[in-house]
Amino acid sequence: MQSSELENLKIAIVGAGYAGAAAAKALSLLGADVNVYEQASQIREVGAGIGLRPSTMDRFRQWGIFDAVAQVSSPSDYFEILTGTNDPIMKEEWPAVPGDTEGTKTHLIHRGDFIDALLGVLPEGMVHLGHKLETLEDKGDRSVLTFTNGTIVEADLVIGADGIKSVVRQQLFSDKGPVFSGEHAYRTVISVDDAYGMATDDNLRMYIGRGTKVYLLPLRHRGQVSFDITALCPDSTWAPTITKEDILATLEGFDERIVNIARDLDMDTVSIRAVYDIDPVDVWHTDSVALVGDAAHSMLHHQGQGANSAILDAGGLADALKEADSVKEALALYQANRKPVTDELQRISRQGWTEDEVNDVFPGQKTAAQPAATK
Ligand SMILES: Cc1cc2nc3c(=O)[nH]c(=O)nc-3n(C[C@H](O)[C@H](O)[C@H](O)COP(=O)(O)OP(=O)(O)OC[C@H]3O[C@@H](n4cnc5c(N)ncnc54)[C@H](O)[C@@H]3O)c2cc1C
Repeated sequence: MQSSELENLKIAIVGAGYAGAAAAKALSLLGADVNVYEQASQIREVGAGIGLRPSTMDRFRQWGIFDAVAQVSSPSDYFEILTGTNDPIMKEEWPAVPGDTEGTKTHLIHRGDFIDALLGVLPEGMVHLGHKLETLEDKGDRSVLTFTNGTIVEADLVIGADGIKSVVRQQLFSDKGPVFSGEHAYRTVISVDDAYGMATDDNLRMYIGRGTKVYLLPLRHRGQVSFDITALCPDSTWAPTITKEDILATLEGFDERIVNIARDLDMDTVSIRAVYDIDPVDVWHTDSVALVGDAAHSMLHHQGQGANSAILDAGGLADALKEADSVKEALALYQANRKPVTDELQRISRQGWTEDEVNDVFPGQKTAAQPAATK
């Protein structure tokens, strides 16, 4: 689309998570008139770390925000998968961006720092907190959004970035609910001094055994380590009640140092939730509404690709708007480019990482060519 057309485009983004914030950055760089509506009155993220892949960092470089993210993250060279008793299963360098001449690395970041960095680069007044979308009326070439606080907004393009329980998805694209994985995630951040010497470099390690996965993701720039446990549990309550004894039971037989970290945890700091994803959604867009991030393709975290995919969606959407002749064409192009990738990620993220499954994927070797794994 021509710059003049993009500048006249009124865009409403629902949700100020990673997908919404990244879409706001990418689309405002096109010159469009962007507003973000977030239901929460305050932005808060879970205390845990994630890995931002080179392709994600590359998008940040294109958007001029690489340094804002780099200064609150640590570059990492590789990830490793080990048994619960610390025997190596495989080790691999993070996959690079094909053709990258900058040597862009994966960066390990605290989720709170990441959302602060993304929202911090948006112009003042772009994000409207306390706006919970209630209904969305798609009128073809524009839509009307009604919020529970009574605000009514009209936009030429609506981006549904409202997460796994997306109202936009449920009202326009699919009434199927999230799917329970049979697992819980217990996540917190601890001081590196409390990690029993298990976090001495900048590399992510996943320890697996008996259906439990333990992730130790160093956040060196903070002197901390993200300590995450994913464990089998049939209780599908979104925010279940779990005791330290329950957590210790999932770690039976694990390396004593991992058990000790869990034993020392302050349970008030631990985020406890059941893990859900969604089945692939057939269509992500109408002529003037599109889904991004978890709203479009919430996936299990076993490949560590959910937040990364949200950023790449935002980039893909902006590219499509530049390339196509109309919003309608751009949304079709965006879906054609992004959906096959995320359909596959949703599929492989449903595979577990038992030792046997890792050995199936990485047969008989400690370094392998499979690019996508873990966080
Ligand atoms: C245990 C676990 C570990 C994970 N680990 C990783 C990892 O290592 N790497 C990785 O890349 N990904 C990981 N993920 C996935 C990642 O967290 C998600 O993919 C990512 O947060 C999705 O971002 P989003 O912006 O699409 O959705 P969300 O973060 O859910 O944001 C949606 C926003 O929309 C707002 N909202 C919702 N409804 C409305 C409404 N009606 N009106 C207005 N606003 C609304 C919400 O308040 C929220 O702010 C993990 C997920 C889990 C559960």
